[in-house]
Amino acid sequence: MTWVVTGGAGYIGSHVVRAFADEGIDTIVLDDMNSGRASFVPSGVEIVNGSITDPVLMAGVLGREGIEGVVHVAALKYAGVSVREPLDSFRVNVEGTRVLLQACLDSGVRNVVFSSSAAVFGTPDTDLVTEETPKNPESPYGESKLIGEWMLRDVARAAELNGEPPFRHTSLRYFNVVGSGVPTVYDASPHNLFPILLAAVTEGRTPTVFGEDYNTPDGSCVRDYIHVSDVASAHVAAARALAAGSPVSPAYNLGRGEGVSVKEIIGAVADVIGRPVPYDVGARRPGDPDRIVTSGAKAEAELGWQATRDLREMVASAWEAWNLAAAEGTARLG
Ligand code: UDP
Repeated sequence: MTWVVTGGAGYIGSHVVRAFADEGIDTIVLDDMNSGRASFVPSGVEIVNGSITDPVLMAGVLGREGIEGVVHVAALKYAGVSVREPLDSFRVNVEGTRVLLQACLDSGVRNVVFSSSAAVFGTPDTDLVTEETPKNPESPYGESKLIGEWMLRDVARAAELNGEPPFRHTSLRYFNVVGSGVPTVYDASPHNLFPILLAAVTEGRTPTVFGEDYNTPDGSCVRDYIHVSDVASAHVAAARALAAGSPVSPAYNLGRGEGVSVKEIIGAVADVIGRPVPYDVGARRPGDPDRIVTSGAKAEAELGWQATRDLREMVASAWEAWNLAAAEGTARLG
């Protein structure tokens, strides 16, 4: 049986493809190569180049023999950009998901693992976010992910009401996904701390901490960083549970329950590279909450999943991958 991974040529999606391959499960990658790279996809895995918003293409891929389910990672992912270009988020993340779900229903594909985000919570009023923490997205991106979760819920409910075979789904909410499972794949996001930091260090520039007057122990923002390979393995655990017909919750927060500040991340980079990393302190970035930390307890209890890689491994693997790309001249943000 085969799983389709939308966005499978991206930083996270290609790690998901590897996690499936490690378990002996075949995948087909569907990616519009907007931010994906063919070099990220393991050799031997088919890449279908196209958009989730294309109904004919989606029907063709999902209508193939032996498709057990879809891991739906493809999306426009920058919350900040979405505030300025909201309709792009809704076109790709909402309309694309609708087209995908329609193709699933038409083809009898009834298992979907959806990539959701901590952005559905906005600025949570709690030290430890749980799956039940109120959803209050503060960007079109966060809204589009919450709408995606709702669409899955509604499609499943309709299947039940209509007496159709069960439509099974879960949403995995990513917090701060970092690190590399293989040195050839790296995060090149121009908007995230790790790539910005690693690019600055390799290019001899001074990185900027966005604000040190937050209500946190060292004044810089606190986040829940998690290794991308741990995030990837959660998808396999979810997919297995869906395919087995085991009870699965509508959503799981993927975190380690450990808050790490921006300054602590810079300290961890300095430890890994063996020299100090000087930084400037700049203004706050609009919309950044003081602290967002969740635990992975629900996913651990229900999916038998665990995050096993620590902060040092996250930093060291990200550094190794960025340096390899820099040596090859391919390291670039964007
Ligand atoms: N950040 C920073 N300097 C940078 C980029 C990011 O201080 O050059 C901070 C940002 O303000 C946030 C944290 O790093 O507190 C993580 O930011 P990122 O964009 O990676 O993820 P987010 O938590 O916003 O999803």
